[in-house]
This record gives sequence, C-alpha cells and structure tokens, in this order.
Amino acid sequence: MSRKPLMAGNWKMNNNIAEAVVLAQEISNQYEKDWPDKVDVVLCPPFVDIKPVRTVLEFDKTNYFVGAQDVFWEEKGAYTGEISVPMLKDCGCTFCIVGHSERRGLFGETNEEVNKKIKALLAGGIQPIVCVGESLSVRDEGTTDEFVCAQVRAAFAGLSAQEVKEAVVAYEPIWAIGTGRTATPEQAEEVCAAIRATLAEMFGEDTAEGMRILYGGSMNVGNVAGLIEQPNIDGGLVGGASLNAASFTALIEACM
Ligand code: PEP
Repeated sequence: MSRKPLMAGNWKMNNNIAEAVVLAQEISNQYEKDWPDKVDVVLCPPFVDIKPVRTVLEFDKTNYFVGAQDVFWEEKGAYTGEISVPMLKDCGCTFCIVGHSERRGLFGETNEEVNKKIKALLAGGIQPIVCVGESLSVRDEGTTDEFVCAQVRAAFAGLSAQEVKEAVVAYEPIWAIGTGRTATPEQAEEVCAAIRATLAEMFGEDTAEGMRILYGGSMNVGNVAGLIEQPNIDGGLVGGASLNAASFTALIEACM
C-alpha cells in the first residue's frame, strides 16, 4: 500500500507571535501548488502561535496543516494551564504531537497519559503524531525494539483499528534528538518495521500498512533522502531544521 509522506515541523518553545508569522510566511512563500498532492506538511508552533500561523497559511492559500505540540485529555474545566482538543480544533489544528520525549523526560508524562491524550484526540477528530523512542542506555542494552514496541502497545491500548487508522507514529531515538547524531537509515528502518509489525498484531495488516510512521532525530538536508527511502519510513518529525524556511522546504521537497 502506498502511503502519502508527511513532513512535520516541531518548533518546540521557539518563536514569539511576530517571529512565528515571519517563519510561516517564509515557508509559505516557497510553497508550490502541487505539493499538497504529493506530501502532507504540518507546522507545529507553540500554542500561542497556532492561530497566527494558521491565519498566514489561510491568507496565502498554502495548503499545509497546523498542529499542536501537546494537549490535555479533558474537554474543559478546572485544569489550570491546560489546552483541550476542542480548543485546538477551534484554532485550526488538525494534528497534535503526543508523548514527545521532552514531555516524557522533562515533565514526567507517562504511557497512560499518552494513551488518554491519543484517545481524546482521535475522538475529537485530530490526528495524533505519537512519539516513541529509546534512550542511549536502552539501545546499548540491545532492547530497543522491545522498549519501543511496548511504548506503541501502551499508547494505543484500548483503541480499535477503525479509531487508530488516522494516527501517525514518530520513531524518535532520544539520543538523536537535537544532538546532530542521526540514526542510520538501517537502524531507523529496523525499528520502524518493528513498530509496523506491532501495529499489525494489534490492529491487523491492512490498518498497519495504511498508518504512517515517521523518523525524527536530527533529520536534515544531508540525511533525509537515505531515511525516507526506507520502506517503513513515511516522512519526518523535524525539530531544529524546521526553524529555517530553506532547510524545512528542502525536507519537504525530498519527499516528492
Ligand atoms: C524533535 O524534537 O522531534 C526532533 C526530532 O528534533 P531535532 O530534529 O532537532 O532532532
């Protein structure tokens, strides 16, 4: 089954509104009208920049998606500081990153919380980009596939094939995020194939074959081609290189 590539930019906690608008405008300026037929592109700015970025893309008729970097699973109420799925939809989000290793590592996000967020997003019609990935010590122990596949099982526990088919998985080895050290295409492919096999066990071959699996971790213009030509890698989740219009555009072009 052929899957449409997806290139998602995770801006992390970078860019105030003015800076976000400039970057979105620069990315938008390089847009070619036939690109959305060939690749899905998602910009994931900080919460406060989502609406302004969406407005830039709408004004320019640039057919890219906007996503968030996190969400809370309840719809509304006394949850100070949190943002709900309906709020993200209201801002024009169609994707949301969940379980990024920075959230798991710095903010103690658990597999159970990731699962609740995914359920809330899918129920609300937003596509989760579910991050999984091992630390260097797990890789050195030789238990990467087991660790990552356990994260996948926990993330999608209690969901049906019908529900998960819109979800995206991002394999992001923690040791490769923001370090300049990329997994080799072979290393990344091995884990992405294991992820797809796990999805097939949980939801059947057809569903697993239709789901997109991204690689993330110091993806750049120099290494993108080798990664996305792998049979189980359907695009990228990109941090650093998504903060520059020229480099992010080059990554989009590499998916054509
Ligand atoms: C990320 O934050 O998801 C990421 C992959 O970052 P970088 O591309 O900077 O390694």
